[in-house]
Amino acid sequence: MIVDFHTHSLASDGALSPEQLLVRAKEAGVTRFAITDHDTTAGYDAVKDSKEAREVGLISGVELSCKWATTTIHVIGLGFDASAPSMMAMVSQLTEARQQRAEKIASRLEKVGISGALHGARNRAGDSQIGRPHFAGWMVDNGCVSSITEAFDKYLGAGKPGDVKMFWPSISDVVGAITESQGAAVLAHPLKYKLTGMKLRALVNDFKAAGGVGLEILNGRQPPVDLKRLVQLADAAELIPSVGSDFHRDFEYGPKLGVDADRLPVNHYIWDALESFQ
Ligand code: AMP
Ligand code: MN
Ligand code: MN
Ligand code: MN
Repeated sequence: MIVDFHTHSLASDGALSPEQLLVRAKEAGVTRFAITDHDTTAGYDAVKDSKEAREVGLISGVELSCKWATTTIHVIGLGFDASAPSMMAMVSQLTEARQQRAEKIASRLEKVGISGALHGARNRAGDSQIGRPHFAGWMVDNGCVSSITEAFDKYLGAGKPGDVKMFWPSISDVVGAITESQGAAVLAHPLKYKLTGMKLRALVNDFKAAGGVGLEILNGRQPPVDLKRLVQLADAAELIPSVGSDFHRDFEYGPKLGVDADRLPVNHYIWDALESFQ
């Protein structure tokens, strides 16, 4: 079975419209699908009632930003009621947080000699949920850097001036919002946070204590050794596996849409369990 429970559209930092994403999912043979934009369900909302949505088995999705100690963490919500008051309140809180954060990123960039970033990034974002990729894109167009990678390496990545996380809610707040909206909370890409084994176990414990139920064992293109480690982690923590491409755009070395779940060493997935959270 080909599935994908982690994808981005133009509503956040993806390159394709939600409609285009559904077409691509269908072409890839996807039969269970989620659009998980950063801190918004606008992409999902726009296509949820379409024929294409039914064809690819679309369910609600979102990737919420939060803070755990000094680390920014992403939590995927699946199968929730997108019109539930707690989800709507969380998305509007995060929309506001992203606006304030954008101002802070721009003022930090100003201090290192890059001016006009707020206007530039806002222009690029348009109606999309504004994020660091919009700053990075503007910096490339503007000639400050020669690639998106360089923009992150020098200015926006972890520990750089544009790495602003003070506006994010806590992990228990975002997991709570998903759970209260009858959805399943999944810890996204656990190895991307570069935590030590001990800290990662502490994160998983806190995530579970907040009501988290799933763990992403496969995120895009990932080394086989990571899959093994994440399957073990999910098993040990009694978290239910989820998988996704984290597709943002077509890119030679990037992930393709769709994951063949039958090829993985797991026989019970979050999508089989979703009804029990509703
Ligand atoms: P934000 O949601 O504003 O914190 O931005 C994070 C997003 O930036 C991630 O979801 C990725 O899509 C993108 N990103 C993070 N690091 C990099 C990088 N080194 N190169 C390109 N894109 C990145
Ligand atoms: Mn992204
Ligand atoms: Mn993420
Ligand atoms: Mn993502």
